Amino acid sequence: MTAIRKVGVVGCGLMGSGIAQVAATAGFDTVVRDVSQPVLDRGRAGILKSLGRMVDKGTITSAARDASLARLRFVTELADLKDRDIIVEAVTEDLDLKNEIWRELDRTCPPGTLFASNTSSLTIGSMAETTRRADRFVGLHFFNPVPMMPLVEVVRTATTSAESFERAYAFARSLGKEPVAATDSPGFIVNLLLVPFLLDAARARERGTASTPDIDRAMQLGCGHPMGPLSLMDYIGLDTVVRIADIMVDAYGEDRYEAPALLRRMVDAGHHGRKTGKGFYDYSADPPKPVELVSR
Ligand code: NAD
Repeated sequence: MTAIRKVGVVGCGLMGSGIAQVAATAGFDTVVRDVSQPVLDRGRAGILKSLGRMVDKGTITSAARDASLARLRFVTELADLKDRDIIVEAVTEDLDLKNEIWRELDRTCPPGTLFASNTSSLTIGSMAETTRRADRFVGLHFFNPVPMMPLVEVVRTATTSAESFERAYAFARSLGKEPVAATDSPGFIVNLLLVPFLLDAARARERGTASTPDIDRAMQLGCGHPMGPLSLMDYIGLDTVVRIADIMVDAYGEDRYEAPALLRRMVDAGHHGRKTGKGFYDYSADPPKPVELVSR
């Protein structure tokens, strides 16, 4: 089994920047690609902030932070990923966009490069089949925030080879994560169960069952959840939640995966959660304040 030394990450948003951070912190030479310099600068600033918090808490030394940053390179050209041993893709949840990237990488990367998608709701097979390396294609589904969340779902398709699966599983472990094996169905394990719950929470809010903070507090105190479902959606990104819901409703044809109109109105109004500063809560206030619902 070829050792993984060089990591490539495509997408430097919420997830891609987190994946690049943990790869660099774990000692891998890491290159991360996004479409423009301002997006990369934002991702880099997020990584600096996260590493800074770890130094403040004493989780890592300032020398380890500097060494991690030295292992990270930010690029705008996909061609700069051509010498990587593994590519982890974390771009916007859109199959056509992802496949365009995979086809190009398939042309430029050597046969030994393992391909891994961080998709939340698309099947890995629907990407693997557009390449000539369906046996070297897996899912590596990380959780947000990546530096804090221990789980990675490692997904094998019908065509993933045993060696590729083992390489991916070992890679997840070498990042300090706890891998679980999942089969290739939309939502894998966690989102299959979590997404209907989150959408139900938005429906409860839409129906006026309770206020935003009371829905969140009820699930925290009543069920021991570390974060309420409306706060969690703000964390994930409401645009991402709606994209995932749309893909899952197509895949399963079940109403419970249907995004409620309230969520779509919020996304249309630019209220995407923490990343835009406003979602169910307004993050310009400290502590964040619940916001009026976007009306019809
Ligand atoms: P995001 O919107 O924060 O980031 C997506 C990034 O992709 C953006 O920076 C965008 O500029 C970039 N991008 C778009 N086209 C690109 C291209 N051609 N080349 C390189 N980069 C490009 O989204 P995110 O939350 O980081 O989600 C990314 C992926 O991770 C999605 O597949 C999502 O389903 C999955 N995911 C998200 C979460 C979550 O909690 N948000 C959790 C697990 C998995």
